[in-house]
Order: sequence, then structure tokens, then C-alpha cells
Amino acid sequence: MGDRTLASLPSVDRLLGASAAQPLISRFGREPVKQAIRLTLNHIRSNPAAAIPADTDILASVSDHLVNQDTAPLTTVYNLTGTVLHTNLGRASLPENALAAITAVARNPSNLEFDLETAARGDRDRHIESIVMEITGAEAATVVNNNAAAVLLVLNTLAQGQQVLVSRGELIEIGGSFRIPDIMQRAGSELKEVGTTNRTHARDYADAVSPQTALIMKVHTSNYEIRGFTHEAQESDIAAIAHEAELPLVIDLGSGTLTDLSRFGLPREPTVQGALANGADLVTFSGDKLLGGPQAGIVVGRRDLIEQLRANPIKRALRVDKFTIAALHEVLKLYRDPETLPQRLPTLRLLTRPAEQIEQTARDIEPHLAKALGDDIRVTVSPCDGQIGSGALPTDLLPGFGLTIKPGSEQQLQRIAKTLRELPVPVIGRISDGTIVLDVRTIESSDDFIRQLAQLTLS
Ligand SMILES: *Cc1c(COP(=O)(O)O)cnc(C)c1O
Repeated sequence: MGDRTLASLPSVDRLLGASAAQPLISRFGREPVKQAIRLTLNHIRSNPAAAIPADTDILASVSDHLVNQDTAPLTTVYNLTGTVLHTNLGRASLPENALAAITAVARNPSNLEFDLETAARGDRDRHIESIVMEITGAEAATVVNNNAAAVLLVLNTLAQGQQVLVSRGELIEIGGSFRIPDIMQRAGSELKEVGTTNRTHARDYADAVSPQTALIMKVHTSNYEIRGFTHEAQESDIAAIAHEAELPLVIDLGSGTLTDLSRFGLPREPTVQGALANGADLVTFSGDKLLGGPQAGIVVGRRDLIEQLRANPIKRALRVDKFTIAALHEVLKLYRDPETLPQRLPTLRLLTRPAEQIEQTARDIEPHLAKALGDDIRVTVSPCDGQIGSGALPTDLLPGFGLTIKPGSEQQLQRIAKTLRELPVPVIGRISDGTIVLDVRTIESSDDFIRQLAQLTLS
């Protein structure tokens, strides 16, 4: 401990010249180190009651500050929540071919908006459009920043100043403030509610059509299910009503998938092709939900309508970047051979992972976790249910296995959960019934996971 008088506080120059400061200067640069020293000295000055630390201690704080400042705030984590497509944890992980494509266009110039044949200005949409058409059978396609943007663009383009019919049972809110009534208002269209919360019939749509109607919209009730005395009008019946009135039917599929998932033993989720076959004029869906690609919103359907979307100036504000286009194309390519998707697309690989394999992973990790947590805390391997997430099939569970940590108290539980989050690659589990469950479905190779457990220290 040093002198208590502030006059004895070392100068910035003295600290900067100290030998302990030299490695910091080579790593972070002279100016950032100087700034950090100033901040640290100010901090010491602001607390006159405390002793003045030795120079080496001050420089240790300076180092902590610089290291902390240098760490990327966005970091990878282990998603052991059981929700594979977790919106807060970044949704789909991309396959290697997509990562390579992103790197290539990030490193080098590309023909993003350049037609290599004619040397004229090209359109970034075209890189994606033909493969989307090929896979979905749609007449045309466009892509924007996410599905919320896709819905906004469709409504603003086709229904500004006019009415849109939506069933009262489909006025959804998706986590993080995507609400159909709000997006409708921001798009400049008027929501006309049809039917009731639990029952909407085709005739309800027919009765609501008026000269003010611009389109009929059907929204996938992604994150909830209405059970009991319910009725939902068939898409094909609504399509017939829309077309009779010469209105487009737009289906917001949300997650949407390009292949029937039941072939992989997963619950059935409506496909984009199915929505088109039922008579939808436009279908909107996400790129990073069940599709397993980058964040994007894809709109497919009638060419005349897609051309109208493209001509809307808002499209320019919602357009995707070259990384998205590069990655999305690589992911879509995998759909040419759906049989191999579970091997090649991480999202489907994780969703279809056999329960025995997940159990084995849990058994491999269990002794290491038990050792890291110490004798007082029970760790067991137990069956647990995962889910797809991101609003796909919210009530269908995926049987898997996890590690259940049973602490003695709520306080201890919170402390363990926090310690897990403080690991170099933070571990995010699920808290349930006074236990922490780590669903290991997403740990495909346990070595790295086990290695970092050595750093787990319960204070
Ligand atoms: C998820 C979802 C959206 C929003 O999609 P983002 O890609 O997250 O913007 C919109 N509509 C439905 C029905 C959804 O499930």
C-alpha cells in the first residue's frame, strides 16, 4: 500500500515508462494505454478515502481495463437451452460451404450488382432468385433483411391506405416486438379482423371483403396453439375467396420449410411449396429459422407482385448484404438433395440427432462436470425435451438428454448458472424446478466442452 496523499499519485508519464507498461503498449498501442492510465488514475482520485495503490497494482488495473475493452462484446456460446433455433442466441448455425462463401465475398470484390455477361448494372436479387424458384417452384422471388421486413414490404407495397383481412386467431406477437397489428399500422395499411379468436371460417373472410380490401393475409401462429373448440379456414378455401374478389392471398409462414420434415422423423411443419400449391400468391418466410441459413426474409410467388415489391423504394432500405446472399445461396444448394440435409445442414443435423447419441455425450461430460462442481452438488444424466424454437412447432418436443445440476439452494443455483456463463465460451442452460438443465443436443464433440470445465471455479 502506498501513501494516502493524492500528491503521491504517480504521473501518467511515470506509469507509461514503467517496465510493466511496455507489453501493454506493444499489444494495444501507446495512446490507448495512456487513456487507460488516465481513466484508472481518475478512478483512484475519485475515492480519496482509499489508499493509493503501488504502480504495479495500478498497471494491473490498466491491463484489466484494456483487455476488457478489447474483448468482442459478441461472443460465441454453448446453447444448451434445449431450444435449437434460439432467437436470443443467434438462431441457425451455418454449414461450412456457407462460411467459405461469406469469407470469399468479404475478402474480395464480387459481381454483387454487376452482370458479367453484359457488363451492365446487375441486381443483387438475381443471385438468389433462380435457386429459390428452382426449389420452391415459384414464379419469382425476392429477399430482404428478415421476415419481419418481408411482411412490412408486402403490406406497404400492396396494401398502403387499404384494408388487409386477418383472422383474429392469427394476430400474433413474435418475441422482441414483432406484432401483426403494429407492423400493419407502420406499413400504412388497415387491419380488418376476421372471425373470432378460436374460430374463423372461410365465410368470415368472404363477408369481410369490400372495395377497401387490398389483400387477405394468413399468418402462421408460430409460437402458440389454439386448442379445444377451434376452426381454422383452409388455405385453399381462402385462396378461392381472394381470387374470386381478384385479391392476392399472402401467407406469412414464419419459419416455413422447403422440405417435408416428417421424412426425417420430425413433426410436420407447413412447407413453402404447400402454401403455394394451396393458392397463395405470395409466401413470406425466414432464412434463419428452419431453413437453417443466414438471417433473411424471403418472398416467393407471382412475378407481377414480386416486381411491385422490387419497385418499392422501401425495398432498398431492407435489402440484404453480400454475405447474406453468398451464404443463403450455399444453404439453398443443399436443398437440391434433401436426403443428405441432416448430414450437411447443422440445423437439421441437430434436430434429427438420435437420442442415444445425445445420451452418450451427456455421459461423457458428466464425470467432468461433477468433478468441476465439487462433491456437494449433484449432477445426473437425465432425459429432457428440447424444441425446435423460433416459432416452429412450439408444442412438439424433441426427446433428448441433458445434465441436470441440482444445487442445495436458489442462491447456489444462481451462482452456478453465473459461473457457467463466465466460462471462456459461456454455457447457457435452462433453469427448471430448482435445477439447471444442460441439454447437450447441440454439443457434437464434447472435447472442447470438457476442456474448459477445468476453468470452472465456484467461488
Ligand atoms: C418469426 C416470424 C416472423 C419474423 O421473422 P424474422 O425473420 O424473425 O424477422 C414473422 N412472422 C412469423 C409468423 C414468424 O414466425
